[in-house]
Amino acid sequence: MNQSHSDVIVIGGGVVGTSCAYYLRKAGHSVRLIEREHLAWGASGRNAGFIWLSLRPAGVQLDFARAGGNLYPEIIADIGNEFEYRRNGGMIYCFAEDELQVLRELAGRRRADGLAMEVVDGKTARELCPILPDSVTGATFCPEDAQIYTPKFVQALGRAVRGAGVDILEGTGVSGFITAGERITGVETTAGRFTADTTVLATGSWGPMLAETIGLNLPIRPMRLQAVATKPLPPLFDRLLYGPLALKQYTIIRELPSYREGMFRSLSEEGLRHVDLLECMVQRHDGTVMLGLPMDYPGYDQTATLEGVGITAKVFAEHFPQLTRAEVATSWAGLLPSTPDSLPYIGPLPGHEGLIVAAGHVFGNAAGPITGKLVAELVSGVAPSFDMAPFKVDRHQDYAPETERLW
Ligand SMILES: Cc1cc2nc3c(=O)[nH]c(=O)nc-3n(C[C@H](O)[C@H](O)[C@H](O)COP(=O)(O)OP(=O)(O)OC[C@H]3O[C@@H](n4cnc5c(N)ncnc54)[C@H](O)[C@@H]3O)c2cc1C
Repeated sequence: MNQSHSDVIVIGGGVVGTSCAYYLRKAGHSVRLIEREHLAWGASGRNAGFIWLSLRPAGVQLDFARAGGNLYPEIIADIGNEFEYRRNGGMIYCFAEDELQVLRELAGRRRADGLAMEVVDGKTARELCPILPDSVTGATFCPEDAQIYTPKFVQALGRAVRGAGVDILEGTGVSGFITAGERITGVETTAGRFTADTTVLATGSWGPMLAETIGLNLPIRPMRLQAVATKPLPPLFDRLLYGPLALKQYTIIRELPSYREGMFRSLSEEGLRHVDLLECMVQRHDGTVMLGLPMDYPGYDQTATLEGVGITAKVFAEHFPQLTRAEVATSWAGLLPSTPDSLPYIGPLPGHEGLIVAAGHVFGNAAGPITGKLVAELVSGVAPSFDMAPFKVDRHQDYAPETERLW
């Protein structure tokens, strides 16, 4: 790699960009990664850590998430596991008998989809996960769910690729592409021009801005998710926990025969004006417990709100009396790059040689690593190891959001 040219430029230092850099470097390419802020500044640094198969719809979403989750053992064999990867399973708990019936139907459907999921009664749920209170009537358990501490994963990939010769430029914003005819030959940045044979756009929620400079419509809508973390507590649980309030957001739940409007609700939600709570919880190795995730669409705003933090505190104090006196350490928000079909945009853009898009990842912990692998295969001219058709970059070229601007 000379001073300003590399085989590949990767724009964006989240889980997708660093995974691309990792697999590209392993495939022998010289790589420069350009990040406007610092590694893991975006959604990947604010992430809950779920590698969550339990609620991924059957078909390409589940297959892709599973393919990505399955890459972790080989990555760990290569770079170690300083990012708390563990496959301890995930649970969805509930507090009412009719809700448990919905979970039974969910588990039946998931087993038909080929996913290992069982439903356990309240007593067994507490044996599997002692923090669950006596009021829990039952829960699903999916041993295939796994977790990481995503900011640490991104940093670990960053260290590994830097050690392997990747040039990581932080604090460097890309303002546009350099073109030669219809070919993308590099990028303009706040630190000057850099050229490459291939440029990879991996800027998550910020994908649409650079895409539109070359006429590509990427209808990525930033979904704000907020989180609260406690100060370190003694080890309380090691499963991924998903709570009932999250479930009504999922089509896969609403389609179940026993599901009725009004289920999976709490009095605490009354009067909420802007957010819905994707109730979920996880404990890190340092003892801190992450509680989340209020969800809304305020555009490119990464600040936590009183309403978001308030509903999180209220619901977890209601559902987990043991946590009522937990000390709060911090709160934050991040932007999940949501797409109309919940699938990312990955691949080349017809008519623009030299560009590969890798943006719009809703479940980046699983999808990030497999995206990196696929991008490296595309750049290397190797047949992709996953069917790329569902990820076509221009599949929503004519999509216009009906009511809101995307940013
Ligand atoms: C609170 C929260 C919790 C979540 N929980 C989970 C979870 O449990 N499991 C899961 O799978 N997913 C989860 N997600 C979603 C997950 O975080 C994303 O799928 C993933 O982080 C997307 O990764 P990315 O690399 O595409 O984007 P990002 O991590 O956002 O990275 C994009 C990077 O591009 C940089 N960038 C943007 N524009 C430019 C530019 N012009 N020049 C240079 N750099 C630029 C940004 O600074 C940023 O660092 C969560 C998201 C949030 C916000």
